[in-house]
Amino acid sequence: MRVIMLGTAAAIPDPDRNHSSILITIQGRHYLFDCGHGATHQLIRENVIPGNVNVVFLSHLHYDHIADFPFFLLTSWITDREEAPVVVGPPGVQNFIDHLFAEGAFAADIKARLNYKNRQGNTHVLTPDVRECEPGVVFEDDLVKVTACYVEHIPTEISPCFGLRLDSADGQSVVFSGDTAPCESLIELAQGCDLLIHECTFPEAAIEFRKKANVGTWSHTSPAQLGEIAVRCGCKSLVATHFASFDTNNPVVKDMMSVHMPRDMIGPQAMEDVITNIRQSYKGELRIAHDGMRIDL
Ligand SMILES: [Zn+2]
Ligand SMILES: [Zn+2]
Repeated sequence: MRVIMLGTAAAIPDPDRNHSSILITIQGRHYLFDCGHGATHQLIRENVIPGNVNVVFLSHLHYDHIADFPFFLLTSWITDREEAPVVVGPPGVQNFIDHLFAEGAFAADIKARLNYKNRQGNTHVLTPDVRECEPGVVFEDDLVKVTACYVEHIPTEISPCFGLRLDSADGQSVVFSGDTAPCESLIELAQGCDLLIHECTFPEAAIEFRKKANVGTWSHTSPAQLGEIAVRCGCKSLVATHFASFDTNNPVVKDMMSVHMPRDMIGPQAMEDVITNIRQSYKGELRIAHDGMRIDL
């Protein structure tokens, strides 16, 4: 099994980090977890033809997890994709997909391209096999079983959010938290997994600031909480990801991020604090995700 972190940022645009996306490849078959901005380019950078990715899991409907999906599907349509992808996600995914293609936002584009005979042969790929699921087993084939739980991020009545666990037929397991505050159902889902890929959006200092300033919604996991979660999951290895660009040196990203945390907290030193805080409790194998990070299991 090969895991590649295609995108490791939270919602702020950052030229050094693409938005959430993880590629898991087993025996040449690709499983894409989230399709945040940049995912399609990142697939190509990793020598994967987007049209060969036929199973996509969407953890939730925040734009930093789904915005590249129309680009992913339209570009693979015009490069002769053969299969419509399976798209698995929580309730709401069907509505998102329904508003994109034939009758949706890209209807004029699709109609225009259909004037060319070459484009008429594979229009079926623009109707993905959408599977809106409740928690439980959400996908199974001969290589993997994927199980989902609801996590604590967007209130469920607005839009439910998934954490996802992939178990391979040869006994390996990877869990992806999606976005969540500390969540008992995710800890249960992740028991004993080989690899826990968990969000770690803000450093502790930024969280304190955000609580006082009432900025945004508080529904993420702090580094210290992440260390405790990893211990309780008994995971063999931990990947921290979904960073709100708090480690950037880019002056424009710093300006944009200063809505969310004081500008002088932002910079590479903030990641040192994150590691220290995860390490307060978790002593096992730890990786700090960056785009293109590859993990072979
Ligand atoms: Zn996010
Ligand atoms: Zn989110």
